[in-house]
Amino acid sequence: MIRFEDVAKQYQDDTYAVKLLNLEIKKGEFFVLIGPSGSGKTTTLKMINRLIPLTDGTIYIEDKRISDYEINELRWNIGYVLQQIALFPHMTIEENIAIVPELKKWDRDKVKNRVTELLEMVGLDPEIYRKRKPKELSGGEQQRIGVVRALAADPEIILMDEPFSALDPITREKLQDDILALQRTINKTIVFVTHDMKEALKLGDRICVMKNGRVEQIGTPEQLLNQP
Ligand code: ADP
Ligand code: ADP
Repeated sequence: MIRFEDVAKQYQDDTYAVKLLNLEIKKGEFFVLIGPSGSGKTTTLKMINRLIPLTDGTIYIEDKRISDYEINELRWNIGYVLQQIALFPHMTIEENIAIVPELKKWDRDKVKNRVTELLEMVGLDPEIYRKRKPKELSGGEQQRIGVVRALAADPEIILMDEPFSALDPITREKLQDDILALQRTINKTIVFVTHDMKEALKLGDRICVMKNGRVEQIGTPEQLLNQP
């Protein structure tokens, strides 16, 4: 599904944030990138949707080079969830969720039904929440909207950069459970960045441990736990 071949990223100041990365992420896999701050996780994630250009190597999605995609084609088909809740404050929840479907020119009814379905999926009553503004929601509710917004136009791939780390422990656990249940129902490929090993072990089908821009270890939670 997503394949990194000898991928490297060097920023202007000569530091290699990512060095010769070779990875294969399978379709439908929950793939976790973990490692200390500065190990290259976010750089790796953002290269997948070309928010950051590669210095070297190639990333393929379904055998097509990402550089051959139109930026919009790529971005609209890859959901992206950030740690910092990035809902537009002046827009209602419905308008926030509908951004990509509207860019894709879905018709009104289809968008409306999709918003209803997504709010129900994360346990928020559509009749109450649809017309609210982000500031009328709790942090955990806003983050839930951030997650379903990324799913709105039914992308095959969802990238998540520490989406739950700003939340209190109870809300975080609840959202982890939600995302696991969601992943099992929709069977999407998820690439999830965290620095929390407990979270990685709970969520990941496979975990990739990064250090200094390289892969230090990779495997299923069982394999990682049974390695010295
Ligand atoms: P992580 O997500 O694991 O914290 P990052 O991918 O954000 O790591 O960063 C990897 C390395 O690249 C770090 O040393 C960081 O300082 C550096 N880096 C990240 N973004 C930039 C940038 N825009 N310019 C220069 N260096 C950067
Ligand atoms: P994240 O939470 O995504 O890991 P960071 O706190 O690492 O974000 O970085 C925030 C922003 O600053 C990012 O856009 C990153 O590219 C940029 N950045 C990180 N490290 C550096 C650096 N050493 N020099 C310049 N920009 C950086």
